[in-house]
Amino acid sequence: MTKQAVIINVDDNAPGRYAKGHALSRAGFTVYDASTGAEAMELATKYHPDLMLLDVNLPDIGGIEVCRRLKASADSASILVLQISASAIAAPQATTALNSGADGYLTEPVDPDVLVATVGSLLRLRKAERALAAANTQLSVLNADLRRSNEDLQQFAFIASHDLQEPLRNVISFSDLLERSARNRLGTEERDYLRFIVQSAYRMRVLIDDLLRYSQIGQQTKISGSIDLNVVLQWAIENLQQPIQEAGACVNAEVLPVVTGDERQLVQLLQNLVGNAVKYRRPDVAPLVRITAERQNQHWIIRVQDNGIGIESEYREAIFAPFKRLHGMEVPGSGIGLAVCRRVVEAHDGQIWLESIPGQGSTFSFTLPVGLS
Ligand code: ADP
Repeated sequence: MTKQAVIINVDDNAPGRYAKGHALSRAGFTVYDASTGAEAMELATKYHPDLMLLDVNLPDIGGIEVCRRLKASADSASILVLQISASAIAAPQATTALNSGADGYLTEPVDPDVLVATVGSLLRLRKAERALAAANTQLSVLNADLRRSNEDLQQFAFIASHDLQEPLRNVISFSDLLERSARNRLGTEERDYLRFIVQSAYRMRVLIDDLLRYSQIGQQTKISGSIDLNVVLQWAIENLQQPIQEAGACVNAEVLPVVTGDERQLVQLLQNLVGNAVKYRRPDVAPLVRITAERQNQHWIIRVQDNGIGIESEYREAIFAPFKRLHGMEVPGSGIGLAVCRRVVEAHDGQIWLESIPGQGSTFSFTLPVGLS
């Protein structure tokens, strides 16, 4: 591909022009000669070359000015310019030429092999640059597609869960009515069936409500610059008062920082993590939950550590997926808690991850941006 590149060879000195043109043609490039700046500009418009070999000292428009004009116009800005001048005045001219947009610089007398190698390397660089630009464009298109399908999915989850609420309300209230009005006419077995229908409908309501909450997180995030995590944790603990007391759990935290974020969502995040730390306790060990913070550049890493049952490493990623549970209904839950945590953290440009030793405990860590204290 580089071999077929088109080059304009500009020099007012005929023997010098011939020598360079000859070396480049022999190397397989298509070469057009010009002896003035005006002619160089004309040939650039006519042939759309890949590269211009440009003598700095020309009789009409100087080489540096030709380069400036090429780089200033959108049609010709991508033409590579290799400036060439006499060695005695090379240093100041090299600086001016490169500052005016030239892509490379050589001094006379130019060795033919060095010339061909320099042209080849500039063309390779341009090819790599173009490939990178194409990959970037493709990446932004893919990113836009991904964002759109994510939004579509979110919208779908929102509509589906919203619309499912209405028929479900009917199932619950009519089952309720049926149970009350037909209780005496039903046998034990039928009453069990009915109870099972009602229980399943209630469970479905919890799942739908959770899905609705989950689908709304991204769109409803309202970021504020100064959220005191100590206050956020207090709220979360208050909301968990009953399970904490029932489990005899001890929740303690070091002084937590001020972060940038959405207060309600951060309460939800800590509440889910502390709630799980209490819920997934070992049967014979009182739950101990510790919350710590460590600053790393513009982020805080917050850790919620427990001494519970722990999680096998093969589930480290899977537990963050919606509705993924490692437990049956002996432990209540819908499997959406950690998915919500991940969405909240990602809506804050952070990350969440798990470290755990099965049988000894788990540590959930997440990052949040530093706030304005
Ligand atoms: P849920 O608690 O409703 O099942 P989550 O999404 O909060 O849903 O958690 C997913 C699964 O991850 C849980 O079912 C449980 O098996 C496991 N898990 C979560 N937190 C902990 C923890 N602190 N210790 C042990 N297992 C946990």
